[in-house]
Amino acid sequence: MHGHTCRLLPIILIFLSVLWFTGCQEKQTPPNILFIMTDDHALKAISAYNPDLIQTPNIDRIAREGALFQHLFATNSICAPSRASILTGKFSHLNGQKDNHAVFDGSQSTFPKLLQQSGYQTALIGKWHLKSHPTGFDYWSIFPGQGFYYNPDINTMGDTSQVEGYATDLVTDLAIEWFQEKRDANKPFFMFYSHKAPHRNWMPALRHLDTLQNRIFPEPSAFYDKYETRLAAHSQLMHLQEHFFAAYDSKVHTIPLKKRDSTLWKLVYEDRLTAEEKAVWESALEDERQEYISGLQSGKTVQWLNYQRYIRDYLRCVMAVDENVGRMLDYLDEAGLADNTLVVYMSDQGMFLGEHGWFDKRWMYEESIRTPLLIRYPGHISQGQIRPEMAMNIDLAPTLLDYAGVAIPEDIQGESLKPLLSGNRIDDWRKEIYYHYYEFPYMTHVNPHYGIRNARYKLIRLYGHVEGWEFYDLQNDPSEELNSYDKAQYQQEIAAMKKQMAFLQEKYKDFNPEAISGQ
Ligand code: CA
Repeated sequence: MHGHTCRLLPIILIFLSVLWFTGCQEKQTPPNILFIMTDDHALKAISAYNPDLIQTPNIDRIAREGALFQHLFATNSICAPSRASILTGKFSHLNGQKDNHAVFDGSQSTFPKLLQQSGYQTALIGKWHLKSHPTGFDYWSIFPGQGFYYNPDINTMGDTSQVEGYATDLVTDLAIEWFQEKRDANKPFFMFYSHKAPHRNWMPALRHLDTLQNRIFPEPSAFYDKYETRLAAHSQLMHLQEHFFAAYDSKVHTIPLKKRDSTLWKLVYEDRLTAEEKAVWESALEDERQEYISGLQSGKTVQWLNYQRYIRDYLRCVMAVDENVGRMLDYLDEAGLADNTLVVYMSDQGMFLGEHGWFDKRWMYEESIRTPLLIRYPGHISQGQIRPEMAMNIDLAPTLLDYAGVAIPEDIQGESLKPLLSGNRIDDWRKEIYYHYYEFPYMTHVNPHYGIRNARYKLIRLYGHVEGWEFYDLQNDPSEELNSYDKAQYQQEIAAMKKQMAFLQEKYKDFNPEAISGQ
């Protein structure tokens, strides 16, 4: 008997030390989380990714003091579906949010709910864009629907009223007000700080209207793309030449307008801005309107003129985002919260900034699916990390739960990025991402498709309206102008990727991918 106890003693000691270690871990203070989200923010419009278009020193600060992901992908590149995937950690076919029409099922599990149940105080300020009321938040104050840039309606816990000011500034005002007046210092917080900008129709703040006025932006890659080898790319409603409204989008409402354009412009401008605000707009944009009109007379293409108007206003909207991100980071510093707060900056997806002649997203092409992701957590994430691994929007839920010390539910489909951010080399990290777009037919729709992308190649299956396959070699054809599906040298790779795609559809339970989405 005595000998038996001796043999057990080391095991008992190990067991006790594991208990002690686990106890210590539980006593670690969970981090506060500031989750900064923007809408349609292309990564090339953040200077940490690309210094050529605009300087974003405050957003860049998060990358400099933390980590930047080079390859984060949206799994269904439109607003509501991507948001639902971020919240649930699941693909659209499982969380039910396949398109912007569906009403988000707020009864399902989301990471803010799990944080709330684990003792976090949770708040949501700004854009929500899921038709059901937010769940999982102790406090919420949101723009109904898309929201307005100027003097927007704001719904706070069920009560809606119009608030004076510029949306991007207001979101920050309200978030800081929550910190100062409602935060419970005895609990960690989760703040979902969510901007409308830089979503269409790109209405800058008054203070930015006279910036960039004399800057001519060079045409982006594949600007005059004719889609010659692509199957469905000609069929979309996001072309700068064809589908950009003169008033609503270009703000050149001195030329004859389409009826829909007049209606939209009235809604976002005529009925929203004060007389004083309109006076600043009219004065600031006079030269650009003149430039547009004389450009038309001198034979410049409408596409080129619309691009100049688009990119200037888009970047002006980003300027206000960057300034407000600076305000939030400064607030964390001043309030002594910066050291114990994990800060995430991301968008719901990317955006075409004129590539292929477009101004929207949706497609599985690079500018649309690649999404910025920056994460800072002093003392836990080493500074200046550039992460090349492939991440998906469904990874955010498990990542934040992991950092909060909350168990990750088994049905979450994403992977925690924490092991990567801890500096570990993960040999079996995913080698490809899966994508599935559904919304059709609708305003600015594209053909339904799904696909797979690895480090070098992309395979796309189009179904429904147009059926067929596309294949791109991103190394030889980075702007995706050449569908190489029929090229002999790629047949082996294509066959391997089809097999891998079938494996991922099984893994992610997308069992019947070509069923037409019920709407
Ligand atoms: Ca969006």
